[in-house]
Amino acid sequence: MTARRKPRLLIIYTGGTIGMIENPETHALQPFDFSHLIDNVPKIKMLDYHIDNIQFTPIDSSDMNPSGWAEISNAIASHYDEYDGFVVLHGTDTMAYTASALSFMLGNLHKPVIITGSQLPIGEVRTDGEENLITALQIAAATTFDGSPMVQEVAILFENYLWRGNRSTKMSADNFNAFKSNNYPQLAKIGLGIHFSEEALWRPKAKTPLQLNTRMDSNVMFIELYPGMTQQTLRYLLNAPGVKGIVLRTYGAGNAPTAGWFIEEIAQAVQRGVVIVNVTQCVNGGVHHRRYVAGDKLANAGVISGHDMTSEAAITKLMYLFGLGLTPSAVATRLNTDLCGEVTL
Ligand code: ASP
Repeated sequence: MTARRKPRLLIIYTGGTIGMIENPETHALQPFDFSHLIDNVPKIKMLDYHIDNIQFTPIDSSDMNPSGWAEISNAIASHYDEYDGFVVLHGTDTMAYTASALSFMLGNLHKPVIITGSQLPIGEVRTDGEENLITALQIAAATTFDGSPMVQEVAILFENYLWRGNRSTKMSADNFNAFKSNNYPQLAKIGLGIHFSEEALWRPKAKTPLQLNTRMDSNVMFIELYPGMTQQTLRYLLNAPGVKGIVLRTYGAGNAPTAGWFIEEIAQAVQRGVVIVNVTQCVNGGVHHRRYVAGDKLANAGVISGHDMTSEAAITKLMYLFGLGLTPSAVATRLNTDLCGEVTL
């Protein structure tokens, strides 16, 4: 019998609360270095894994941006063949945006990219960081009966659940169970054991090589509807300089004001070549353009349905598609395609 090869994992540390310490003067949390983090998790040595790490200059994830996503994706792509799985330590504030962006940038992913962090720094007595890090490593090392990776996608591990990255949203600034995927089931439930929901896991269609695309076009924005928005404000937002794509955050099943001026402003923006994708402000459910007149008018004006996509997935998908250099009509078509499990069509 041949001995089982030790799983080889790469930890990529980008910052976030998990590695922060308190500033002695201001008492505010600030990023700290990775060796401090690892020193606080001696249990890692109990895992029979080969673990390497890469440390970026640690940041609060409020400072994360497309160059940071490219840096993480490049690190994964350039070490892709050397490791069985990757664990990205990241702040929680923009974790769902990073998870969505990485899912698009790392095309044809066949290995686990598990993103985690914590609500309390790893040096604190009641920290959730130690458990999250250990569990993320175990998930990254998990295999199916035939030895292939159990997880073959970008996922967020937080407290009791593993969620698909591009379906996740930060739901709480205070609870340990801070993330949720409101429109897609959990990929695993973490209790005494790690119970994978195999039917929910993404399975890439063909065994094609990793396809890295790190160019994101940031000429995109959100427009959040609220009762009382004036024509002047809407026109100003729709005419933002250089804007190519807009995620319109609408009411309920994708509804917006039916007033003539509103629809006219939207239709004019679409005619100028701005791609507008409709995503609901509701945390659960999606856009159904034909359910109400208030949604039907948007569809007739040329707005694309975002179906049940999260706002984080919709905005990063727009950045990614425009980053590929596609025309507005090609972007609109690809928005209606499920690229990596981000949308139910
Ligand atoms: N502000 C922190 C960050 O996102 C919050 C956290 O990590 O929980 O980096």
